[in-house]
Amino acid sequence: MNNTTDKILHARDCRCAVAQSVGTRPLRVLKFGGTSVGDGASILQVVDIIRGASAEGDTVVVVSAMSGVTNKLIEAGKQAVAGEMWRASRLLQEVRTQHNIASLYLLTDEDARRRYLSTKDGLLDDCRRWCEEATRQAALSPALQDLIASLGERLSAPLVAAALVANGMRATSIEATHLVATDNHYGSANPDMDATRECCEAQLRPLIKSGTIPVVTGFIGVAADGSLTTLGRGGSDYSATILAAALQAQEVTIWTDVDGIFTADPHEVPCATTIPELSYQEASDLAYFGARVLHPKTLRPVFETNIPVWIRNTFASSNVGTKITKRGPVIDGGVSALSVMRDAALITLTRSREASVPDVFEMILGTAANIYSELLMVSYLSLRDKFCVVVAAGAAHSTAEALRRELAKRLNGADENSVVVDDSVSVLTVVGQSLVDVKGIVKRALNALGSENINVLATGQASSECSLSLVVSRRDIGTATLITHRELKRGHQIYDSSTDLLHQNLDTTLRIPEFNS
Ligand code: ADP
Ligand code: ASP
Ligand code: MG
Repeated sequence: MNNTTDKILHARDCRCAVAQSVGTRPLRVLKFGGTSVGDGASILQVVDIIRGASAEGDTVVVVSAMSGVTNKLIEAGKQAVAGEMWRASRLLQEVRTQHNIASLYLLTDEDARRRYLSTKDGLLDDCRRWCEEATRQAALSPALQDLIASLGERLSAPLVAAALVANGMRATSIEATHLVATDNHYGSANPDMDATRECCEAQLRPLIKSGTIPVVTGFIGVAADGSLTTLGRGGSDYSATILAAALQAQEVTIWTDVDGIFTADPHEVPCATTIPELSYQEASDLAYFGARVLHPKTLRPVFETNIPVWIRNTFASSNVGTKITKRGPVIDGGVSALSVMRDAALITLTRSREASVPDVFEMILGTAANIYSELLMVSYLSLRDKFCVVVAAGAAHSTAEALRRELAKRLNGADENSVVVDDSVSVLTVVGQSLVDVKGIVKRALNALGSENINVLATGQASSECSLSLVVSRRDIGTATLITHRELKRGHQIYDSSTDLLHQNLDTTLRIPEFNS
């Protein structure tokens, strides 16, 4: 493993760089997600988009792993830990084949293909050794886990760069371990923007100035000790805005497999429609509360800037998509969209008489922060004298345990039953710029859900005042989303003005027949 980390250039050694003036051509960062680079034919669409963009300005490309690859790599690591090296090998072989087929499709020049195949084989051989080490130790350190998970981007970036060269463009791949400096919070690392800026000036700016398109691995960074880190699942979106902020780019475009940000996940709510413009805050809240289209931290690096972030469809590149701006649309649109966190957990704490309400709030927030648990909602139900904490289901166990420990410490052995976890809930969040009439919105949503016998277990408003969340049982979340989407008059729906009856479009009608009129 030392060999491997040795190969990673220490990003913080790039301090020699001097900030350089921004060139006259506009600089755009284009990020392509897993489906966009999922096979050779898709990568050719990507090549066309990059060709168009680079004719108009300077371009930095950020790529995800080919679709499905990161899941396979993570699974290979797990199988190796479980001693099932043959399963791990089979998964790595599938990854190998996916890249072989794409390279055959894209790289007709034998030398170029041989060069790519040898890079790919080297990386997969490394990965095999890391898996063998995991089997020997029956464990995976967080650092080794990140190394394994990062491989997909390290395999796709050189492939996309080679495809650009094969199509007559100047391009080179560059690993983000040379560019994105982070802390050592493996699995969900945070960027050090000052160090990142210096590395980008030293490593990326000269490439851009020389007319070469850098193709950067999304998802990964480097900690101060030189070890590779990852930014969290779906983190390539975040990589794109980190680089854009560091380089003071004019624009970021996140190219994905849908036509922008919709009023709800278009794969769950077929009558959802694209939202033309959203504010940074609205998009952040949507992502934070589960809309997979953006990594939750994507807008953080640009919050203090005016860099617009576009979401567009690689497979329908003439469609305009969604523009995310600092202020959002001039005309306030009220409710913009709904997002869903399907797998969530509701943790209920009973207050002991000794503790005041503010003390318990403080204890909850502090305990969660100590274990890096992101709280989706925290509220106090005065009637029942209980606190509700909502987290992603994956964090339920560790958060509940940490709360139990803290309570026991403070109260000299609290009753085990004072922290109860229900991990069968989902969170439905309504997002809109200044949801001023929150009471009205809650009332309408609650009435509509109540009329379908859907019980709302808890509600809460985010401090941004851009979102309002409802907790429902997981078995109700599909119907609850459709009903709320309809009630708040989102998406493509037909209104009968005389009776004020609302009919969902045909696709939705098929999904929930009771909405048919
Ligand atoms: P990529 O691989 O390009 O990063 P993702 O799969 O991470 O793409 O994100 C795109 C997916 O996000 C869409 O296919 C869609 O199902 C999902 N999604 C969830 N909520 C929304 C929303 N409000 N608008 C658009 N897409 C959404
Ligand atoms: N490949 C990584 C993942 O699947 C990062 C990304 O696609 O954005 O999570
Ligand atoms: Mg994504």
